[in-house]
Amino acid sequence: MSMNLVTLLYLVASVCFIQALKGLSHPTTSIRGNIFGMTGMAIAVLTTIALVHGQARALNVDFTTGIAWVLAAVVVGGGLGAFMANKVEMTKMPELVAFMHSMIGLAAVFIGVAAVAEPWAFGITAAPVAAVVGARTPDGAVLFEGFVRHAIPYGNRLELFLGAAIGAVTFSGSVIAFGKLSGKYKFRLFQGAPVQFSGQHMLNLVLGLATIALGLVFVATESWPAFFAMLALAFVMGVLIIIPIGGADMPVVVSMLNSYSGWAAAGIGFSLNNAMLIVAGSLVGSSGAILSYIMCKAMNRSFFNVILGGFGGEATTATDGAKEQRPVKSGSADDAAYMLSNAETVIIVPGYGLAVARAQHAVNELAEKLTHKGVNVKYAIHPVAGRMPGHMNVLLAEAEVPYDQVFEMEDINGEFAQADVAIILGANDVVNPAALTKGTPIYGMPILEAYKAKTVIVNKRSMAAGYAGLDNELFYMDKTMMVFGDAKKVVEDMGKAIE
Ligand code: NDP
Repeated sequence: MSMNLVTLLYLVASVCFIQALKGLSHPTTSIRGNIFGMTGMAIAVLTTIALVHGQARALNVDFTTGIAWVLAAVVVGGGLGAFMANKVEMTKMPELVAFMHSMIGLAAVFIGVAAVAEPWAFGITAAPVAAVVGARTPDGAVLFEGFVRHAIPYGNRLELFLGAAIGAVTFSGSVIAFGKLSGKYKFRLFQGAPVQFSGQHMLNLVLGLATIALGLVFVATESWPAFFAMLALAFVMGVLIIIPIGGADMPVVVSMLNSYSGWAAAGIGFSLNNAMLIVAGSLVGSSGAILSYIMCKAMNRSFFNVILGGFGGEATTATDGAKEQRPVKSGSADDAAYMLSNAETVIIVPGYGLAVARAQHAVNELAEKLTHKGVNVKYAIHPVAGRMPGHMNVLLAEAEVPYDQVFEMEDINGEFAQADVAIILGANDVVNPAALTKGTPIYGMPILEAYKAKTVIVNKRSMAAGYAGLDNELFYMDKTMMVFGDAKKVVEDMGKAIE
């Protein structure tokens, strides 16, 4: 395959990736976006295989064994990925994403180590003659070895240092994020509460500077010990950067790690001289960075505040608070159905609990019945409702909720004061007025102003705190009625009562 054709196909794949990102920005176009993404990836992989095949043939080296290993890895990795993606519940998606980021980080580290060990096998030499597959003859004799052994150009060394270091930080950081998000493990570093100690920021700074210094030693001398010491420090830094961040900030962290994994791939792409990897890595890196920025804005927090933070660590205090057992008004699904069917305007606020209960279809049916009775129904979506950005939009789209009933926070907040009923289904933090009170851990985070509605119905199973671990004053207001129970059961009961 000629280099011109390779470049053209890589360009087509890049356009597909850009179209994929564009399509994924809205539920109506997301399927098209996914198709573009898969097509782009198929073109990129097949073109790369054809490119490597051509280069191997030109150098008369063995292609079959190498490609057999690659295909075996694609089958095993692809099969595992498909199995996990098929099996995973929507609510566990952020963990899966964190796990995948950790794999991308590790892949960048492995490529970095392999490229430093055998640069000629990656086309990294001072001379333009080296092969991509590996300059070995079919009988195993090594070509060029003496010539290239110490010939990694300075530019490539810098790219390898950056790619491998970012990959290492991404790997260990994603493992910690995975543990924190799953909340299943007893290990202290995997708990949602931040792990903080005095001198932590100073330690991070010293480690960061030491990592850079070792990386520069590697760039200057191509020293193996410096490269491995740099990698070890980068792994430790990944852990130290993520442990002080509380569970409630994990959305930003996951998207930040997403961005890192993209930059690691782009760095390695420069070393391997592969334009496709550079473009794809940059797209992931920049879209992850933009998403982190949007989420920080949605929480009204600066990026540095999140990274240096500790937000979401009040779990103990909040649980103690909840133990006070202050009185609340509670009612049945029938009471709620009566209030809903007598309202003119109802705003539904879905949250993480709705996703856990898989109540989206039941909610859509309830909304249809209310609409049929002449009630004006709208859905209010908070940007970080659920456990990942866009979580609620995807759930509602899956249940075929009409898009014109779904409103983003900034568009609907002005309407709560006129709404007869705001019904909150398994949401907590995103409607917590504690965000308006100075000194609370979520102070300044924009919330859905459900507390302004004339009547508020809250469905959850208990008085337990939300993800940020805070008690919620909204539950104790005079105009609030709590309906305890699993969201799906409660919503189905409401639907039946309305009938
Ligand atoms: P929260 O986690 O604050 O609250 C969810 C509520 O749902 C809980 O209080 C729980 O109460 C209730 N619940 C759980 N299961 C059920 C069920 N089966 N039926 C009914 N209720 C149930 O969710 P929000 O959506 O309000 O807020 C999202 C939080 O998650 C924010 O703090 C956000 O920062 C964080 N986050 C968001 C991510 C994102 O990108 N969107 C990613 C990671 C974290 P009870 O146990 O009493 O039923």
